Amino acid sequence: MKALDELTFDNRFARLGDALSTHVLPEPIAEPCLVVASPAAMALLDLDPAVAETPVFAELFSGHKLWAEAEPRAMVYSGHQFGVYNPQLGDGRGLLLGEVYNEAGEHWDLHLKGAGQTPYSRMGDGRAVLRSSIREFLASEALQALGIPTTRALCVIGSSTPVWREKQERAAMLLRLSPSHVRFGHFEYFYYTKRPEQQKALGEHVLAMHFPECLEQPEPYLAMFREIVERNAELIAKWQAYGFCHGVMNTDNMSILGITFDFGPFAFLDDFDAHFICNHSDDQGRYSFSNQVPIGQWNLSALAQALTPFISVEALRETLGLYFPLYQAHYLDLMRRRLGLTTGEDDDQTLVENLLQLMQNAGVDYSLFFRRLGDHAPELAVTRLRDDFVDIKGFDAWAERYCARAARDGDNDQARRRMRMHAVNPLYILRNYLAQKAIDAAESGDYAEVRRLHAVLSDPFTEQPGMERYAERPPEWGKHLEISCSS
Ligand code: AMP
Ligand code: MG
Repeated sequence: MKALDELTFDNRFARLGDALSTHVLPEPIAEPCLVVASPAAMALLDLDPAVAETPVFAELFSGHKLWAEAEPRAMVYSGHQFGVYNPQLGDGRGLLLGEVYNEAGEHWDLHLKGAGQTPYSRMGDGRAVLRSSIREFLASEALQALGIPTTRALCVIGSSTPVWREKQERAAMLLRLSPSHVRFGHFEYFYYTKRPEQQKALGEHVLAMHFPECLEQPEPYLAMFREIVERNAELIAKWQAYGFCHGVMNTDNMSILGITFDFGPFAFLDDFDAHFICNHSDDQGRYSFSNQVPIGQWNLSALAQALTPFISVEALRETLGLYFPLYQAHYLDLMRRRLGLTTGEDDDQTLVENLLQLMQNAGVDYSLFFRRLGDHAPELAVTRLRDDFVDIKGFDAWAERYCARAARDGDNDQARRRMRMHAVNPLYILRNYLAQKAIDAAESGDYAEVRRLHAVLSDPFTEQPGMERYAERPPEWGKHLEISCSS
């Protein structure tokens, strides 16, 4: 265990120079106080969870104090936003404070979000509000607990600094951890500004730091692109299998590591709805739940375009072709597990599709359905779930096929089936209304609910005594909350 002043820094990205990032100091927020910290994320830096309660912790992560070895930098990037190229983005309100090594030799970027204005702030104030910081914190740590690759959140620090959005709010800062903050948009920036040397410096950095095994391949850049395609196919399969809607899949919000990155108006599905749009400024539904799959490929093509100086168009095309089959294989594998199946049959894809269609028609709760399906043996489970459906005949036909399929699967021991299914079907997910309740309390200065919700979501597969209300379907008011995109 380390004290806060014992972190080991090695700021590799800063050493790439001013073409890739700019030195900027964080602008502190007033009266910093700890809202919530993640002991699991603190462990990644070998930090004792108790240090979160010390005043210096809040000072460090609110811009009042800085380690001597930190080198805060705002990164420059660009990207496609809603399909349109935006030539100049960059860290407008977040800073890479520095890079830290833990005792296991792992490397973590410390990124302070809401740290004030930078040369890339455009018209923005450089701030993040408390509500969006809490949402990112909860989502990062909830996704991690579900086994979905994501950036991590160390803490949220609140303040009395006023910020204007639709109304006056309070500024907060979130400390994000990630092995890298390089986005698809980083490669796009140097490609479209025609700076091959800087692009090469970036490419070599990313290869050496994050894809060293690709350096042993005859074509390292191609091997890296292939790896990025594979990771994204797997990531998006996990989003779809667990009902996570990212909301702003712009290429500047896509990590080259294939992890969930840059949370905005995200949502986990309550009722299953393939057409769900969680982002209220997404009028066309470009980033609707089911569109995330083709958009994943679209984004990879945008990255491919930016990599044409390194890789032949033919090889890029061929590699892009791997995305969809890989996605489908991962997705089907996850859905089989969610259904308690341990083997594969040709008709499984149809079994899944038919179920989702029935759920869509009836507005069935996506997470609870799978959880309850594992509670009892297949025949009893489907009898109990039947009333949730509108097309009862349709459901009965599905249920009959499912029970027969489960019987053929081999392992019919219900105790084992239940354990197997409950280990992949969460009881607790970050429903919008749960986040909203915690945010409402936090905005009036009470952080107990944020902390409790974070603790519940840290162990989503295990039934926790006394926490029944976190496993319920949302009340009517909580079903169609408008999540503001301004954050
Ligand atoms: P986001 O929608 O958070 O992914 O941000 C898109 C771009 O806008 C990034 O370049 C951000 O740094 C920038 N940005 C978002 N909010 C602010 C803000 N309040 N102040 C300055 N820049 C911002
Ligand atoms: Mg962003």
